[in-house]
Amino acid sequence: MTATFDIELRVLSCEKCGAPFDAPPDGGSVACSYCGVVMVVGERRLAAVRPAHALEGPARIAKLRMASGRPLPENPYSTVTPPPGCEGLTQAGLRPVLDQLAQRFREAVALVRVQPTFDHQRLLWWCATQLNQGYGMHGEHRSRRGVLERAIEEVSDPGFRHLLFVNLAGAAARFGELDAAREWIAKCDPSAEDIVLDSGYRIGLAGVLACSGEHAAALDVVGARSGEVPEAHQYRMMFAVYRIHAFEALGRLAEALAAAREMGRDPIVGHLVGEALRLNELAPRTRAALGSPA
Ligand SMILES: [Zn+2]
Repeated sequence: MTATFDIELRVLSCEKCGAPFDAPPDGGSVACSYCGVVMVVGERRLAAVRPAHALEGPARIAKLRMASGRPLPENPYSTVTPPPGCEGLTQAGLRPVLDQLAQRFREAVALVRVQPTFDHQRLLWWCATQLNQGYGMHGEHRSRRGVLERAIEEVSDPGFRHLLFVNLAGAAARFGELDAAREWIAKCDPSAEDIVLDSGYRIGLAGVLACSGEHAAALDVVGARSGEVPEAHQYRMMFAVYRIHAFEALGRLAEALAAAREMGRDPIVGHLVGEALRLNELAPRTRAALGSPA
C-alpha cells in the first residue's frame, strides 16, 4: 500500500537540503536523514481554510462572474505572473530550474519567518507551486508532498494555504490515493470569493471526482457549458478538459466532442485541447475522434 500523500503522516521538506522527511505531529527535534541537519519543528499546522465571507450564494457567484473570462495579470493568486526575480524560473520541468527553485523556496521560508509580508508569502507559495509541477513531472512525489506541506505550515494567508491544499489533493488523486485526495480537498475553502481561488478549487475537486468515477458530480462542478459556472481565464482549458472527460465517461460522446470543438476555437490555446487531454490521461475516445476528420 502506498502512503505518499496520507494526511495522517506529516511530511516536510528539509530546511537545509530540501529532502522530504517524516516529522512528529507534535513537533520536536528531527535530524534530516539526507544532510544530517537537526531541525526544531513546531506543532503541525493543518487547520482547514475557513475564512469569513461577506458574500454567499448567488451574490458570491455574481461577484465571481465579474472577474470571469479575461486575463487577470494583477491577481496575486494567479501563477501566470511570477514574483519579482523569478521570471527565469518558469520551466520547472528542467532539472537546473528545479534546483534553483528549490534553493529559492528555502530562501523564501527564511524570509517569511523573519518578515511574513504578503509578498514574501507569495514568493514562497509560487516557488512551491512550481516545485509541485516539476517534481510531479519527474515522478518525485514525496519531494512534492514535503514542499507543499512545508509551504502550508509556513504561510498564513488563507488564499495561499487554500491553493496549496488544492495542489496536494490533485497530486494525491493523480497518484491514486483517493482517500487522501478527499481529505486534502476538504481542507480547502469551498466558497471562495476570489475567482482564481474558486476556479482552482473547482479544477482540483473535478480532478478528485474524475479519479473517483463521480462524473455527474464533476460535470456539475465545472459546468456542462463554458460560462455556466464562473471560470478564471487562466483555467479555461482545464474546465474544458474535465467537462469533455465527464461527458465521455457518462456516454455522452457527441457532447464531449462538441465541448472539445468549442474549446478548439479559443484563439490562444484552442489548438492544444487534444494535447491537454493526453497529458491528463482523460477522454481517450474524444481524443481519438479529434485526431480524425469530422
Ligand atoms: Zn536535509
